Amino acid sequence: MGGLLFGTAGTPRSTKLPKSSIDGIERIAELGLGCMEIEFVQGVRMGEAGARLVAEKATSLGVKLTAHAPYFINLNAHEPEKIKTSQDRILQTARIGSICGVGSIVFHSAFYLGDPPDEAYNRVKEYLGEVMRQLKRENNRVWVRPEVMGKPSQFGTLEEILNLSTELEGVAPCIDFAHWHARTGAFNSYSEFASILQQVKERLGATALDNMHIHASGIAYGKKGEIKHLNLKESDFRYAELVKALKDYNAKGVVICESPNLEEDALLLQETYNSR
Ligand SMILES: [Zn+2]
Repeated sequence: MGGLLFGTAGTPRSTKLPKSSIDGIERIAELGLGCMEIEFVQGVRMGEAGARLVAEKATSLGVKLTAHAPYFINLNAHEPEKIKTSQDRILQTARIGSICGVGSIVFHSAFYLGDPPDEAYNRVKEYLGEVMRQLKRENNRVWVRPEVMGKPSQFGTLEEILNLSTELEGVAPCIDFAHWHARTGAFNSYSEFASILQQVKERLGATALDNMHIHASGIAYGKKGEIKHLNLKESDFRYAELVKALKDYNAKGVVICESPNLEEDALLLQETYNSR
């Protein structure tokens, strides 16, 4: 058992209306996919009773869940109240996510705002550390995952995310391979994908490869990094080489597809994975 599960960022496009999270989980199971990311990107509006129903549905259908925190987070904000609301949004996602039974939550940490990256890093580490201590007090064991980001204006290089993961208990990376490709203009070949997985293994230990949270999609990019997500086959992203590297490193966990066509590319990735 084990291996990688494939699924969509939010409910699949072909979900029946009203496309609630529960409808989405049912559709994931019908499609033969294995996981779904609940998108709290515009705010955490699910209540506890609803979250319990989501957990029941996901458990009964064997669909693994993750959650994406609201976009409006900046742990490097210069105003204390913005730091506080950013921390609250991560906490709310972890609290409701935990009731939903998610294994991990992912979030966009910060913008540099022109600050030297090491200063931004220290702030993000301090304020995320406070969040992690609060979750520990609440006995909330959901993995908290800062995401590798696609624009040079955004905090979240591979190294920054791996550093946070080594320094803060309960923090692990969400590696968005499309973002990293868009940000660097490189990292689009088997050997480069393998080098990322090798770094994860060396920095975080082999067990980190048993518990991966990955984002994948096609992507358009330019000098300022990510422009927009694309369907895999309309992009230059060498997804078959990524899948091969993940397989060779025996990576386990979830691969969340963020292509505009969502489930089509999730199925494409899954079929590629299963056909090797
Ligand atoms: Zn994201």
